[in-house]
Amino acid sequence: MSNSNKICLVTGASSGIGYAIAQALSKEGYTVIATARREERLRELSAENVHILTGDLTDPTFQDHIDNFTYETFGRCDYLFNCAGTIATGAIEAIDIDQVTAMIQLNVTATFRLTYKLLKRFRQQGSGHVINISSILGTKVRPTAGAYAATKYAMEALSEALRMELAGSNIQVSCIEPGLVMTELHKDWEVHPREAMGIHEPLTTDDIVATIKFILSQPPHVRIPRLMILPKDHQI
Ligand code: NDP
Repeated sequence: MSNSNKICLVTGASSGIGYAIAQALSKEGYTVIATARREERLRELSAENVHILTGDLTDPTFQDHIDNFTYETFGRCDYLFNCAGTIATGAIEAIDIDQVTAMIQLNVTATFRLTYKLLKRFRQQGSGHVINISSILGTKVRPTAGAYAATKYAMEALSEALRMELAGSNIQVSCIEPGLVMTELHKDWEVHPREAMGIHEPLTTDDIVATIKFILSQPPHVRIPRLMILPKDHQI
């Protein structure tokens, strides 16, 4: 199957990791459905093979729209990239609890819902690949990062359960666990984690794209359920 016949759904495609993945896939000729809330940022992806869907992923009716658009327009979806995510930090007793529940809505509830919807389609078509952007914090907890880590542990649990439940099928899941990547995720922080953690050279979105290309280039009998990628200076 040529790349143009492969349909990639990318959430969080208006910035950072999702944007870089959507752009790289588009350049490689895949058909890309790019979704996020900021339309003007999604438009920066402009290419004939990129289709933009603007909306809030935590809204179940928007997820219905994504699903319907994808299957009414293309009749299939080959890759789901779950990149949309946010971060709220602070000690558990001090953190803004409304920010935490909003984060859970996006990082956990919306991710589970979209994956659930697409899985049913993947079962019908007999193939598909879910790629989840988790985090190093999906594998370990740090003080002040417990709430965010909880959402990424949930993503890891989703991925690991799927790996086992889908074993032997042509549907697969890969969970990527990056350390610090330079994106807009930490733009409002008083002290950027680069300084706080002494990471002189954080990962770039190109580094993440390279891991995605590696995963996508595997032959059909190979599975990469988890892949951790860290900057050189990452210590803890
Ligand atoms: P960005 O802030 O650059 O991107 C986040 C994306 O999520 C944006 O496209 C944003 O678009 C979208 N988004 C946020 N809220 C919603 C919403 N309610 N509905 C739909 N889309 C939404 O951050 P990153 O690229 O860094 O983050 C991508 C993923 O990578 C996240 O899950 C993050 O946890 C993970 N990650 C990031 C690391 C890092 O160091 N940067 C390290 C490890 C993991 P819009 O605002 O337009 O809706």
